[in-house]
Amino acid sequence: MAELESKKVVLPLYPVEIDERVWYANGLRFECTGCGNCCGGFPGFVWVTPENVRQIAAYLEMTPEACALNYVRKIKDKYSLREKLQHDCVFLERPGPGQTRCRIYPVRPVQCRTWPYWDANLASPRAWTEAAQSCPGMCDGKAPLHDLKHIETQRQHPENP
Ligand code: SF4
Ligand code: SF4
Repeated sequence: MAELESKKVVLPLYPVEIDERVWYANGLRFECTGCGNCCGGFPGFVWVTPENVRQIAAYLEMTPEACALNYVRKIKDKYSLREKLQHDCVFLERPGPGQTRCRIYPVRPVQCRTWPYWDANLASPRAWTEAAQSCPGMCDGKAPLHDLKHIETQRQHPENP
């Protein structure tokens, strides 16, 4: 049974195109170190959908209305998580020096899940290297190697920024 479970393939619910001519066709190494650099310290947007808000609310055991009121802001016709002081994401916690934690990690928004496989970072090796300057998980030569299918599944997620 365990063997059968381990062979179960989870397919994305959206079509994913694979082009083996891209510069990252042989995969990319990445493993989050939990440094928190991408979650705070500078202004930005963490886009959420109403469904995200419902999931976050359920996880925090509050109503979607209270969740939206406390943690979400409207930006033109879209919605983003609010920021705390120093532009930290409203859900970023800093329990100690050099330590960070996402309060809603199991239900974090899509753009948090699909980093660093965003169009801007995958545009060229140079773009990847530049992004890696603030993300130590992207430049760790010992991090797990993720294959092209995994990368494209993340990059082409319909809610990816
Ligand atoms: S910047 Fe990179 S290593 Fe640091 S928390 Fe974000 S994804 Fe993880
Ligand atoms: S929701 Fe969590 S993972 Fe996403 S930016 Fe905020 S603290 Fe970081």
